Amino acid sequence: MIKAGVIGYPISHSLSPKLHGYLLQKYNIKGSYEAIEVKPENLKQEFDRLLEEGYAGFNITIPHKEKVFELAQKRGYKITSIANAVKAANTIYIDDTKSIVATNSDTFGFYENLRKGSNNFKLLNSSASKSAIILGAGGAANAIVYNLIANCQFEKIYILNRTKEKALKLANYYENYFIKNKLSGDELIPFNHIEAIEEITFEIAAKTSLLVNTTSLGMKNQPELNINLAHLNKSAIVYDIVYNPLFTSLLKTAQSRGNPIVTGIGMLIYQAFEGFEKWFGIKPELSSEEFAELTKILLSK
Ligand code: NAP
Repeated sequence: MIKAGVIGYPISHSLSPKLHGYLLQKYNIKGSYEAIEVKPENLKQEFDRLLEEGYAGFNITIPHKEKVFELAQKRGYKITSIANAVKAANTIYIDDTKSIVATNSDTFGFYENLRKGSNNFKLLNSSASKSAIILGAGGAANAIVYNLIANCQFEKIYILNRTKEKALKLANYYENYFIKNKLSGDELIPFNHIEAIEEITFEIAAKTSLLVNTTSLGMKNQPELNINLAHLNKSAIVYDIVYNPLFTSLLKTAQSRGNPIVTGIGMLIYQAFEGFEKWFGIKPELSSEEFAELTKILLSK
């Protein structure tokens, strides 16, 4: 029986056991995936205990992603380039050479959901693609900015955050981070088309092709996100990574004015695939019916 799980604190809210439970059942795998509460002061011991007890690996959620990355760095574990860029790990697995690997699958989850969930996706990879606006500058924003630089062709990425210093810090980080991107071809270059902003001006809104909310605003029990979409380009994709509720007021407003929208649940679903494949040996695939069924299961009480 293959064992995996997710560590976090608190952990009772985690949807990952339901998600992996669904996949284990779909593929008829004799395996388990459990939520494991790990207090910050016990992180190292619990990390070691799980591997000693034969876990194939585990996911890491709030508040441990950065600490696990640091632990992996300190101990010289293998770290994927994505986790290295984002400085946070959400998945641990053992590779073919028996090495412990720390990676970050949030970036893949974000992008796969955008790719599969948006009819206008093609636009983002064409020269018609103009700029992206990222609301928020936390851990999720970091993973997303990395992905947009690596995979898309934006002339400009704008970051707008309540705490401007954090937006500046994130922009500054990627301005100095050497990354292969669609503009550079095979060359590793810093991405200096990124800017922290304090408001979305008419000019910025008009040439936006993607707007992503990465803040926790709009989430159940959180204040609503207050943003004026009046001048937003009508073809801009509006993507909210908040998934509870599935249709946030940002998405409802965007949809009512004709913008294509992408909900956040797919990001959660697709980020799980890498770990599942590494631990249980099968690369998951979901039909649209299964995706809808899983979404319903995840969002049911
Ligand atoms: P984080 O690192 O704590 O960042 C939180 C962000 O939200 C920061 O930019 C913060 O701004 C902003 N924020 C929080 N409260 C705010 C308020 N009252 N007004 C304005 N801004 C506020 O968290 P994270 O890991 O990036 O996650 C952010 C959200 O994304 C959460 O809701 C999380 O559930 C969701 N998420 C979804 C997925 C998915 O799979 N769909 C994956 C990861 C995260 P300040 O810097 O000013 O504090």
